[in-house]
Amino acid sequence: MNVRVALVLLVLVAACGSGERVTPTAAGPPPLALVGGRVQPAPGAPSVADAVVVIERGVISAVGRRGDVRLPDGAVTLDCAGATVSAGFWNSHVHFTEPVWNDAAFAPPERLAGGLRAMLTSYGFVHVFDTGSLPGNTAALRRRLESGEIAGPSIRMASGSFVPPGGSPYYLRPMRLPELSAPADAERLVPQAVDAGADAIKLFTGSFAERGVIVVMPVDVVRAAVAAAHRRGKLVFAHPSNSAGARAALEGGVDILAHTFPTELDGPWDRSLPGGMRERGMALIPTLKLWPYELRKFVLPAEVVQRVLGNGQAQVRAFADAGGQVLFGTDVGYMTEYDPTDEYVHLAGAGLSYARILAALTTAPAERFGVAALTGRVAPGLAADLTVVDGDPERDIRALARVRYALRGGRIVYSR
Ligand SMILES: [Zn+2]
Repeated sequence: MNVRVALVLLVLVAACGSGERVTPTAAGPPPLALVGGRVQPAPGAPSVADAVVVIERGVISAVGRRGDVRLPDGAVTLDCAGATVSAGFWNSHVHFTEPVWNDAAFAPPERLAGGLRAMLTSYGFVHVFDTGSLPGNTAALRRRLESGEIAGPSIRMASGSFVPPGGSPYYLRPMRLPELSAPADAERLVPQAVDAGADAIKLFTGSFAERGVIVVMPVDVVRAAVAAAHRRGKLVFAHPSNSAGARAALEGGVDILAHTFPTELDGPWDRSLPGGMRERGMALIPTLKLWPYELRKFVLPAEVVQRVLGNGQAQVRAFADAGGQVLFGTDVGYMTEYDPTDEYVHLAGAGLSYARILAALTTAPAERFGVAALTGRVAPGLAADLTVVDGDPERDIRALARVRYALRGGRIVYSR
């Protein structure tokens, strides 16, 4: 019997013996109260100044102005003066491929906890989607998080990482990714990936087989992979590389484009794509910071880098203006620069308001990944997944990266 079970039984026995009611917090952690911050309950909603958020047993039990909200007896308080409290952030495009994650099943917990803090929770990310790593390793990391051994984000995992024939990315060599040559391959291999624990399927609909050479997945193969994933209730992410790769994803019925597609290798980008993606209900993960990060490796002139970033921003702008669903994501883990500040700045530069950026961090992923009834807003009854940042991100978008606390299910997973 573990200590927690023993305590619960002890309390129940004591309560039965004395005829007292068992209060919800009797056996759990003490209630927590975030006090004095500006609460942003949802993107675009009026904020509440000098507010209190009360958390009991991992769930938000009250939100309101200080003075209107009664603090439960024994509540532990977190000072949020000068800070903004919003729902916990999602990063919908991450990888667990750096050495810090090696042997996640048996690695020392401090090493993994440190990695999670450095890459994710210190930037407020309490939910992440791994869009391609070693699935067994990510699953082991997730097991240790879910057991409570290590504090950190929830992890969902896209796997498969299927490429067209000859389409293994040159930058991942010597690794070779599984190829889909025909619809029958997709029908066979996609269910195998789902059986192995995938929460979603990842396709390279356009893949850099060599520097400057992009191989595109045939649309009938994309369609077969999407149908096989959807039959199992799983979403499909696509890595497009260029407009042709984005077109294959769109026509194949992919759910989420994991990047913008700003390259000019094969001419100007296809302006009809953002509207088409919106029409088909696709979501877009911009990963704008990734483009200057990648292009710097090739020592290109600044104006080339700026033009490519500008293409990505124009794609995000056109998609958002059409009403498309943007999901925040950075490709961190592949990208070894963890700080998301530039991503916020580039999104704002693309014309996205604070409310739209906050939606991309909170309500949009909660909706897309089917958990909007449980998380994504600061409201009573929802999970206490919260990110507390210094200052006011509505006035300075960089504030979104200045994280004071991150909580997941009422547990403090990061405290600066
Ligand atoms: Zn990636």
